Amino acid sequence: MSGRPESIAVVGAGIGGLTAALLLSRAGFTVSLIEKRTRVEEEGAGLQLSPNASRILIDAGLGPALSRRATAPECVRIRRGRDARDLAAIPLGLSVKERHGAPYLVIHRADLAGLLLDAVRGEPRIQLLYGREARGIAEHEHGLTLSLRSERGVESKLDACALIAADGIRSAHAPSKEPPRFSGFCAWRALVPAAAKPELARAREVGLWLGPGAHLVHYPLKNGDLLNLVAVIEEKRPKEGWSRPGDAKMITEAFADWGDFARTLIASAPAWKCWSLFDRKPSRQWGNGLVTSLGDAAHPMLPFLAQGAALAIEDGAVLAAKLAPLAKVRSAPSGRKGSITAPSGATERSTEMARALRRYERDRAARTARAQREARRNVFRYHARPPLSIARDLFLSRSSGEKLLARYDWLYGWRPA
Ligand SMILES: Cc1cc2nc3c(=O)[nH]c(=O)nc-3n(C[C@H](O)[C@H](O)[C@H](O)COP(=O)(O)OP(=O)(O)OC[C@H]3O[C@@H](n4cnc5c(N)ncnc54)[C@H](O)[C@@H]3O)c2cc1C
Repeated sequence: MSGRPESIAVVGAGIGGLTAALLLSRAGFTVSLIEKRTRVEEEGAGLQLSPNASRILIDAGLGPALSRRATAPECVRIRRGRDARDLAAIPLGLSVKERHGAPYLVIHRADLAGLLLDAVRGEPRIQLLYGREARGIAEHEHGLTLSLRSERGVESKLDACALIAADGIRSAHAPSKEPPRFSGFCAWRALVPAAAKPELARAREVGLWLGPGAHLVHYPLKNGDLLNLVAVIEEKRPKEGWSRPGDAKMITEAFADWGDFARTLIASAPAWKCWSLFDRKPSRQWGNGLVTSLGDAAHPMLPFLAQGAALAIEDGAVLAAKLAPLAKVRSAPSGRKGSITAPSGATERSTEMARALRRYERDRAARTARAQREARRNVFRYHARPPLSIARDLFLSRSSGEKLLARYDWLYGWRPA
């Protein structure tokens, strides 16, 4: 196999890679999207999609598909785990739409991946290479060559003008060699059928329950047919496996001191899957030469701000915008869009590409680092013990929902330049 040397290779077809491939192709590039799995099957359950990300997908024409598959919750309701006391309600729904011009949504990950994949399949400029693992890159004067291996062990080469590593937290292609750091927490996830949903979890809301050393999040999926339930608890050592079955007895014990509602909610889950949670310290080294990274490969974060996938979507939009002028230059020799004078040699074109990749990284670094740090801080806010939890609860119950929402303006109000 040999890709066109002017095409961009995107490694990894998670939410970040799918979005980047789509937006790069819309910017005028041919794209090879390489994924080691043979099928698109997003592990996990629900995702919250805040306006900074939903706006990008809507602008890319995915609004109708999103509104068929996603739900717009009315608020985030924060409660105390011990006695179900209502502490605050941060308005979402219309308030968010009016404030930020795009909706706050919740959606099943497989539905989001599916609608992105449908859009990717509709782009003639994207070559989808499933069942191929990227195993090494060689940069040379004409660009770079990527070594691939198929699931049957067949080796091949792919030429490209740049490589985007969207291969997740354990990326083999992002330059940072710092290993992911274990957070000391594990997320337990379950999907509860509508009939088994406890009373307090029936509203079209994101529920956030706070307690010492643990928290619970739940929201409706699939038009309310399912309840997405996440319980985060402390874990001494990370366990093997990205998504492993969880022992119901263990999670029941972890919430034994919580109030009736939390315990009923935990008991309503038919089965659990567990994820030991990792992140990395913010880093500015996302790429080198003709290689850059995005999403979890560049800035893995804890899920306590619900932003990992959202920021991967933002990365795709910024990358496509920074590289767009080069798509025109690259296609100039073939005469398709040749309004801009093309740089004369391959080396010059590579230099331009490397510069554009560094501009993308500079644009993203501060924002994603802030989100990584804020996600970590939320551990202390959510899991506080007395007396800190008393101060937190007082602050929450005395703050208006609008004021609490305004604290996220920096995050949800972001727009691609
Ligand atoms: C419990 C939990 C809850 C979360 N909730 C939210 C939320 O509500 N909102 C939100 O925005 N985020 C949330 N996140 C974070 C979000 O899931 C991730 O940040 C996001 O999925 C990262 O996407 P990605 O495309 O960067 O990487 P990934 O999803 O990890 O995709 C990487 C892809 O690369 C492929 N790959 C890897 N190596 C190779 C290779 N060598 N060759 C080819 N392919 C390769 C993999 O198979 C995979 O498909 C949550 C995370 C967790 C754990």
